[in-house]
Amino acid sequence: MSNANDKLQNLKPGSDCQGDLNMILEATGISLFGIQLQANSSVWANGMRSTELQRDLYPAGSDSYNRSGTGTISAVFRNSMSGTRAEAGLPGSALAGMIFFNPGYVNQNSTGFDAALLMHEVIHNLGAIDASLMGALGFNPADPITDKATKKLAKDCFGVTGREVQY
Ligand SMILES: [Zn+2]
Repeated sequence: MSNANDKLQNLKPGSDCQGDLNMILEATGISLFGIQLQANSSVWANGMRSTELQRDLYPAGSDSYNRSGTGTISAVFRNSMSGTRAEAGLPGSALAGMIFFNPGYVNQNSTGFDAALLMHEVIHNLGAIDASLMGALGFNPADPITDKATKKLAKDCFGVTGREVQY
């Protein structure tokens, strides 16, 4: 992920990317500068091996916290039905500033795609949930396929083309 973070830190947005960033800023108050700053302080961990609790990604007592039960993050990553390959701790949670990745997934992606994935997760660290990010980028906020946000950012901001960004 450090190569991906280098790419994010050096991002010079073209017009499509700037359009996405403007919509994200408008919807969430999160700027590219804020994303870059947070990306340098977020802590990365292996989601496949994490014994942290899934609910601790959310502030204690929130709906998402209460719905998450007492399963571990590794159980979520290892459940093929969940499709989860990255997750981030929200502000006010026990895991604030943490980002969990599936290393096998990350390593098979292009650096540009991973830069977009990092951007997506850092936006969660900064407090925007998937519904806000998806809505900002023109998707249905309720769409559970949140990969679409990553793919749009990969295409618009990091020039990724082909199979990786099809949705
Ligand atoms: Zn997300």
